Amino acid sequence: MELTLDAAAPNPDEGRPVEVLDRSTKRPTDRELRLERNFALAVAVLPFLGVVAAAVWHAITWVDLGILVATYTMTGLGITVGYHRLFTHQSFTCPRWVEGVFAIAGSMAVQGPVIRWVADHRRHHQFSDKEGDPHSPNLVGGSMLGLWHSHMGWFFSEQKTRIRRFVPDLITNRMLSWIDQRYLWWVIASVAVPAALGGLLTWSVEGALTALLWGGLVRIFLIHHVTWSINSICHVFGARPFHSRDLSTDNLWLAIPSFGESWHNAHHAFPTSAVHGVGRWQLDLSAWVIGGLEAVGLAKNVRRPTAEQLEKRRV
Ligand SMILES: [Zn+2]
Ligand SMILES: [Zn+2]
Repeated sequence: MELTLDAAAPNPDEGRPVEVLDRSTKRPTDRELRLERNFALAVAVLPFLGVVAAAVWHAITWVDLGILVATYTMTGLGITVGYHRLFTHQSFTCPRWVEGVFAIAGSMAVQGPVIRWVADHRRHHQFSDKEGDPHSPNLVGGSMLGLWHSHMGWFFSEQKTRIRRFVPDLITNRMLSWIDQRYLWWVIASVAVPAALGGLLTWSVEGALTALLWGGLVRIFLIHHVTWSINSICHVFGARPFHSRDLSTDNLWLAIPSFGESWHNAHHAFPTSAVHGVGRWQLDLSAWVIGGLEAVGLAKNVRRPTAEQLEKRRV
């Protein structure tokens, strides 16, 4: 199998017959499908109920806010630096223990186990905005329906990504497989850690419960919708400064909450780049973190497009 992670390489699946797409996905058994859908429903609904409960029951305290910001940053970077730029696109290398930290932090964002997430995202790049893309907003009829599908609707699809086809490098990584198989542990930790912190910092049960709501469920809700907005909004609205094979866009207003992931057109133009905010003033916290790790010797082989490569792809 061959991954097309290099923007300059032709897409091997473009224009290929339908059997190629069949090899990318499979339909799970009815039981598996029911289980997956129930889990997806819980993941979509419970954080929302947490937001309602938090808003109605208790105003946010400074302790809750501190825990929310800390856990949002930690789990958000787990997704953007770990799941996305490191594991999916191999935009840098790092020691195994750093890989482990990012895989666990990403798992605590409750967006799925690392290997599944990476497989879905590589499939997204392989077929971007074409038949076979798991979450393109541009294939489903009607713009609102397309946005819904790319934002959350695709979780309920009957077609699941064939893991082996897209992540042969990760399924042989024993540490990542170990973390991946214990996904439920990290989901529980994702709400238990904020609750424990809140309880300890305020020395009260009420403090534990409000931290569980704000630092747990509300934070998961926020990080979910920011990540999902990259899949939906950043393939419909916004600027397209670079040539890419799809309809990906850049959106300035999402740059801060998404830690730089909303420079999504640049990302599709240069998928293996560790930097998505390639312009001088384009905020990209994830790239700064990778640069920081590089400065202290914890990240190596950091890939960045040259000025010449950028110019060549500019619209
Ligand atoms: Zn995309
Ligand atoms: Zn990507």
